[in-house]
Amino acid sequence: ASVQTEKFDYIVVGGGTAGCILANKLSADGSKKVLVLEAGPSGDAMEVAVPAGIARLFAHPVLDWGMSSVTQPQLVAREIYLARGRLLGGSSGTNATLYHRGTPADYDSWGLEGWTSKDVLDWFIKAECYADGPRAFHGQSGSMNVEQPRYQNVLHDEFFRAAAAAGIPANPDFNDWSRPQEGYGEFQVAQKKAERADTYRTYLKPAMGRENLKVVTGARTTKVNVEKGSAGPLARGVEYATQQFGQRYTAELAPGGEVLMCAGAVHTPHLLMLSGIGPASALLEHDLDVVANLPGVGSNLQDHPAAVLAVRSKPEFEGLSVTSEIYDAKGNIRIGAVLKYLIGRNGPLATTGCDHGAFVRTSAAHSQPDLQMRFVPGCALVADGVKAYVAFGELKKQGCAWPGGITLQLLAIRAKSKGSVGLKAADPFTNPSININYFSDPEDLATLRNGVRFAREIVAQEPLRKLLEEETFPGERIASDTDIDEYVRRTVHSGNALVGTCAMGTSPASGAVVSSADLKVFGVEGLRVVDASVLPHIPGGQTGAATVMVAERAAALLLGRTTIAPRREPVCA
Ligand code: FAD
Repeated sequence: ASVQTEKFDYIVVGGGTAGCILANKLSADGSKKVLVLEAGPSGDAMEVAVPAGIARLFAHPVLDWGMSSVTQPQLVAREIYLARGRLLGGSSGTNATLYHRGTPADYDSWGLEGWTSKDVLDWFIKAECYADGPRAFHGQSGSMNVEQPRYQNVLHDEFFRAAAAAGIPANPDFNDWSRPQEGYGEFQVAQKKAERADTYRTYLKPAMGRENLKVVTGARTTKVNVEKGSAGPLARGVEYATQQFGQRYTAELAPGGEVLMCAGAVHTPHLLMLSGIGPASALLEHDLDVVANLPGVGSNLQDHPAAVLAVRSKPEFEGLSVTSEIYDAKGNIRIGAVLKYLIGRNGPLATTGCDHGAFVRTSAAHSQPDLQMRFVPGCALVADGVKAYVAFGELKKQGCAWPGGITLQLLAIRAKSKGSVGLKAADPFTNPSININYFSDPEDLATLRNGVRFAREIVAQEPLRKLLEEETFPGERIASDTDIDEYVRRTVHSGNALVGTCAMGTSPASGAVVSSADLKVFGVEGLRVVDASVLPHIPGGQTGAATVMVAERAAALLLGRTTIAPRREPVCA
């Protein structure tokens, strides 16, 4: 009830990846009152902490938002499931934990002062606590735990040998910016001794006892209250509803306070629109008052579309797969797997399944890798890779064995297609309309088509060929360009990297929603966006690390310890 009587210096909307970081950093100053409103519950569940629990998190009835895109005519009229974490820690609590920054060129291509690769590198390093020894390009004193994957499987080694035989170079560190991203190798993970290191565990939990920090779970923000003052619109606080009883509340800012939007790349633009901030025509269509006409809100949605190639193993090698190591023939979790995890902090429960792989250029036309291959030492039984995880998490219900094999999940990591998040209704409880729009740029489809061919080349190399037999997906008869394209359209799924829907930039006229100098929403005082929505162009690697970098930076900016652009002072205070 004290939320009703207190006023806050910062109201953080969404206790997700970025929100937990802001909550910690801003409440470290005891004089500032910070409120975090999170729609979901805490992030303490065991499926969250144990990496292999990811299979139970996709489409989870409570911990996932359960959203899908609108019908996609170009994808044989499918609706694409779009996973998003709904808990403290947000999607860092449900993601695959891979730690990738992308490449220097990803950031330099933004063309934004203060966000060049040199600028952002300082913050990647400052945020990181890399566990496996001192290493160039890595930090050791930040809060984000990063380590090498701890689960070992002979199939990883055979994949590496096959990749080498197919002409791919080895890459010992994909985050070492002194070398090209291309190559095969281990993917670093945001884990601490094989426990998920989401931002709830690493940033928020250690700060929870602070008197000036209030965290309310089950609290769904429905609107930012903006006053149309004589000096222009000014955020005054937010409205929210409790999940349990459906009651409506308001939370207010102290004078000079700010609302910080951290609800992620779908909900942040949605909430802005519900608050009258967005494309005027769309707001008027739903009878919403226009507070600020910002055409860029909800546009520029980007993702990594993905397709799989899966191959069954020969019967004598069934036991090698991670799936066989986790489950027995009746679908029960093996006690040996549990003991390995509890005692040695390794074994098959220590992996989200896809922490080895490669980055490749599928044609000479690309100056950087356009494809990431995530190698899974297990056979996908459904061609939609996300649904394959869901099926795996539910194996106990089937009470049967999971056949052995391998999967290469292929992701177009520098995809150029753009979609949008729009209003379906003015009611805040109606999901927004998400048009994921994969393959609006045909190059993305070409990347996945070439990726299928390249994956076949790798699988045909002796180290893997000797272990494998039938290709289950796409299946050998799918060989022509037309057939592969059709397969990809029928099975493409999300690489879970939604970004860009409140892009930062220099002017709203060019589609930007927040200023790249300070992440303030153009035209509204007391309102900033700090989450994956501000990334103007998708980096070529999973997007969690970049979100952490933005949040760390924003916190230092709010605390007056740094500026963003132009860079006039040392960054690390
Ligand atoms: P989120 O972390 O999603 O946080 C948003 C928060 O806001 C959530 O807690 C949500 O519940 C809350 N919220 C939303 N609306 C409201 C509201 N109205 N009121 C109150 N609270 C609200 N990245 C990687 O780096 N490596 C990976 O391996 C990887 N794999 C992924 C796998 C999956 C399944 C998913 C979903 C994502 C993956 N990502 C990965 C992407 C990465 O996790 C995200 O880019 C990043 O977490 C986004 O952070 P965010 O702060 O923008 O949003």
